[in-house]
Amino acid sequence: MFLKSIEVQGFKSFANKMVFEFHKGITGIVGPNGSGKSNVADAVRWVLGEQSAKQLRGSRMEDVIFSGTESRKPLGFAYVAITLDNSDHQLAVEYDTVTVSRRVYRSGESEYKINGHNCRLKDVQELFFDTGIGKEGYSIIGQGQIDKILSGKPEERRELFDEAAGIVKYKRRKALTE
Ligand code: ATP
Ligand code: MG
Repeated sequence: MFLKSIEVQGFKSFANKMVFEFHKGITGIVGPNGSGKSNVADAVRWVLGEQSAKQLRGSRMEDVIFSGTESRKPLGFAYVAITLDNSDHQLAVEYDTVTVSRRVYRSGESEYKINGHNCRLKDVQELFFDTGIGKEGYSIIGQGQIDKILSGKPEERRELFDEAAGIVKYKRRKALTE
């Protein structure tokens, strides 16, 4: 499984619709300070269900919506979609390509979709359990996160190992039946 593309529109500094395409191997994103490199990683976190504005370096959830510049009016919504190649079926769905999208309006109304079908945040989270990709996964290592893991509580560190071992979904199911 690998990330094929990220589409953003109205998300943080990306007012216009923009598509980042990735290929197998390593891709670096370079640019001057403040040009939006970290916003790309924030977009991935957000579409995976991040609910904390602080984790996205804002103070309110609305801060993810393009807030305008001197020459451009603010926008009314933020949209992000990520497309993954799932031809190895690491994600437990039949599709060879999986697109997850999230859209939020200033009113706070928000919607998630998996391959164009409306779904709940919970469905997005479940899709990525045990893949290392979810917002709690280790596929996005933010600044300071390594320190946090090293100096964190044993229980927090355990969560990381559970995810890597692929037992999160069983633990969640067990918790639901208890
Ligand atoms: P650095 O090299 O310093 O880490 P960077 O390339 O990672 O920089 P980002 O932090 O991704 O830069 O982008 C910051 C820019 O995004 C700032 O100019 C900020 O004004 C802009 N920005 C953040 N949120 C919004 C928003 N809601 N609307 C418009 N612009 C935004
Ligand atoms: Mg940055």
